[in-house]
Formats: sequence, structure tokens, C-alpha cells
Amino acid sequence: MTNLPTQELENLVDKIRDELGGAEKITDLERLRVAYVGKKGVLTQQLKRVGSLPPDQRPEFGHAVNEAKKTVEALIDERRSLLSDKSISQQLRDERIDETLPGRGSRIGGLHPLSRTMNRLIDIFGKMGFDVADGPEIEDDFHNFEALNIPPNHPARAMHDTFYVAESTLLRTHTSPVQIRYMRDHKPPIRVIAPGRVYRCDSDQTHTPMFHQIEGLAVDENISFADLKGVLITFLRAFFETHLNVRLRPSYFPFTEPSAEVDISCVFCSGKGCRVCKRTGWLEVLGCGMVHPQVFRNVDIDAERYTGFAFGLGVERLTMLRYGVDDLRLFFENDLSFLRQF
Ligand SMILES: [Zn+2]
Repeated sequence: MTNLPTQELENLVDKIRDELGGAEKITDLERLRVAYVGKKGVLTQQLKRVGSLPPDQRPEFGHAVNEAKKTVEALIDERRSLLSDKSISQQLRDERIDETLPGRGSRIGGLHPLSRTMNRLIDIFGKMGFDVADGPEIEDDFHNFEALNIPPNHPARAMHDTFYVAESTLLRTHTSPVQIRYMRDHKPPIRVIAPGRVYRCDSDQTHTPMFHQIEGLAVDENISFADLKGVLITFLRAFFETHLNVRLRPSYFPFTEPSAEVDISCVFCSGKGCRVCKRTGWLEVLGCGMVHPQVFRNVDIDAERYTGFAFGLGVERLTMLRYGVDDLRLFFENDLSFLRQF
């Protein structure tokens, strides 16, 4: 029995051990693995020599080749885990975070200007004893028009540019239907405001198809026009945080009688006259009036015993006046450079 083939194997394993020791990268290691113990690797090929050996040497040589392969594979694994440890420590060194550096900071979001105004309105009226009521944005003809004393063919309907969903179903054109819903469910005394979205088929610099209103309603015995005036003046001075002048002009709404439009002295020129107030010194801010007896009858409230007032104001309009915004569309474009100013 000759030792020659097994001796060759041992020399080969020594040579591989040296080469593995020199491998500095995982990729080098992989190349060596393929070259020696891969399917066509040098060591794997040694098995082919088995057939050419004398029969009594074949089992021993075959066994020796398999052992040599196992040894080399173990060496490769050992080297691989060493290299991967090294590369992790290297990575940790390279990517070390300097915790003494100042943070980059993250911006805190803010409330949309319309939300700020809504919150202020709810807060100011809340202090005067008004609760918040709400109602559906998809309304029926009865609540949006008929119960508010706007029967079919009434000319006031033409002013509303209504979005109809179905024949008598529509997107509410004002927050006034909430008055009707609230008065049907609650008996006087009533003091509520109803903030919310309303819809009209209109779009330009001063109109958007969706905008926000706040409706106010107070119903009790002995409520007079003087109470309405007092509430509105108190509200307007609190909202604009200045002692502005307020005037009421006679107007018409089907659901209030008498009705009035409310003007404030111009907040930009203090009433002297400027471009915004069209040199008049006055800005129109809301509509109001005493609840029409027919509206009370529509909701089964005794119009002989109770009186009440109602008002409606545009949230966008108030926000524009308070912050000096001149284009309504800015509120809906979500331009961050605009929104961040608030
Ligand atoms: Zn002015």
C-alpha cells in the first residue's frame, strides 16, 4: 500500500489552509470554496481518481478525500465567521453615530387657519352659553328649504346654486337646516351654534364649491332684537379683539323677520376707507334676524309664546378679514408656505 495519493491530499489541504488564511473578503472566500470544494472543485475531482487505484486502496482513499473536504469546509466556515465579525465591527466603526451632534429637528404641524377660526368661534360663543349642534351634509329638500320657509318656486332658491344628489336630496347649501333639526328635537330654551361645511355650485376668487358656515340660534320667551344685537356685537369685538363699530342694515331672508345684514367698521383702515372696504369704511360680515313665526310652526314650537333669533356667518370670510388673506382659494390649495404663516 502506497501513501502517495493520501500524502498529496494532505499537501493540498495545507496549501488551501494557507490560501484561506490570506482571504480578506467574503467574496475571496467564496471564490476559493468554489475552486476547491465546489462541484468541479480540485478536491471534489480527487474522487475520480478512486477508480484508477488498486481495489484495496479505494475505500481508504475515498474516505480520505471526504475527510479532506470536511476539513476544508470547516476551515472556510471558520474564516467566514471571522471575516463577517470583522466586517460588522468595521461597519460599526464607519457608521458610528455622533450623539453629541445637534438633532435635525422635525416640524410640528399646525392647525389650518379655518380650523383656528372655527375653534375661536366655538370658544367665544361657548362662553356666551351656546352649545354646538351638528347635522348631515347631505340634506333633504324639507330641512334645507321648505321648513325654512323657502317653498318650491320661491325666488330665494335661485340664489342657492344647489348641488342635487337626487330629486329631493341635496348637499346642504347653508347650515340653517341644523336649526330645524335641533328645534324638532329640543324644546326651548335653545342656544346653539352649528358649524360645518356647506356646498354651492360656484367657483371663482370669492366663491368655492365647498365652504364653511356657522349658524347661531337662540329661542326662549322674551328674546328680542336687542338680545341679537348684544350677542353679535359682543362676539365681533371678541373675535377681532378690537372695539370696532357695528351697524345693522335691513335685509331679507325667508326664515327670519325682520332680517338684517351686519357690517363692521373696516378692520384694515379703521373706517377711514380703503381698497378692501371699497372706500366705504364698512365690511359686511354676516346675516341675521328674528326667527320667522312660520319656521316655528314648521317645527311645532308655539310662536305666540316663544321668540328667537338666528344668524349665519361665513368662516372663510371672517378668517380672511382677521388674517388679511385676499384669495379664498388659498384655503383649499394646501400650499405649505401659505399654511405655515399661521
Ligand atoms: Zn377699509
